[in-house]
Amino acid sequence: MPKLLVALILLLLAGCGPVEVREQRALDGETIQVVATIGMISDAVERVGGDRVEVEGLMGPGVDPHLYKASEGDLRRLERSDVIFFGGLHLEAKMADVLERISGQRATQAVTDAMPRDRLLTPAQFQGQFDPHVWFDVELWSFAVEQIRDRLAALDPGSAELYRENAASYLTELEALDRYVAEQSRRVPARQRVIVTAHDAFNYFGRAYGFEVRGLQGISTAAEAGAGDVQSLARFIAERRIPAAFVESSVSPRTIEAVQEAVRSRGWNVRIGGSLFSDAMGSPGTPEGTYVGMVRHNVDTIVGGLLG
Ligand SMILES: [Zn+2]
Repeated sequence: MPKLLVALILLLLAGCGPVEVREQRALDGETIQVVATIGMISDAVERVGGDRVEVEGLMGPGVDPHLYKASEGDLRRLERSDVIFFGGLHLEAKMADVLERISGQRATQAVTDAMPRDRLLTPAQFQGQFDPHVWFDVELWSFAVEQIRDRLAALDPGSAELYRENAASYLTELEALDRYVAEQSRRVPARQRVIVTAHDAFNYFGRAYGFEVRGLQGISTAAEAGAGDVQSLARFIAERRIPAAFVESSVSPRTIEAVQEAVRSRGWNVRIGGSLFSDAMGSPGTPEGTYVGMVRHNVDTIVGGLLG
């Protein structure tokens, strides 16, 4: 082989960087070390990756991803990992710098990358950004599962068939879940299909299953609700005689209780219809500690709350 060609090949190989080195090592049958941000992503990676992956989730039950900052321990986990899956669309707003920096050293994947942009919502209060709460449209979330499948297969082609099989069986479960949510939602008469919560996590849910959604804090919990927001939401609830509002597991119930109080002073009584899982799943080992379980819990709570 001519010397120049050898030099060129060596140069090309040297340019591949640490990500490719890790991708090569994963081929040797080692378990793939995955770090995921929110629980819904951890769950999907575990389902698709099976025994081939070891998943460390950064954000547990009740943790708000909009406000979450990476700890020292998280940084070490990220640096040790083979691949990092995150939501993207500014969901992990306070981790943007860390994720950007680590992307130079580790394989990183936003699970929303393959979602068709025309299916993403851009509500006015998000000021031109996409709404990141895509997991509440179960069909849309299937794109995230496919993205995880494809990235794992690229990192570890030897197990690609396993990832395809696992993903196919999980996607079948998600199709059944999507049908369940649609069926349950239809039990609520159309004019009563209103979800009032503390922050705007449910826009995708609303679009997919036919609910009007009213939140207090806008897209991210980082923006505090003002007194004017509380009053205008209270007026809406009293005028529409909405029977129930909902609290969320990862957001303080204080704001929605303030709304309840303001509604009462307008001569209407709105119940707290229950607690919804919005940006985090329930405790591990409980039904709500999985994506399927949290979505079922939410629709059951919403339908039960609105039907009284
Ligand atoms: Zn949120």
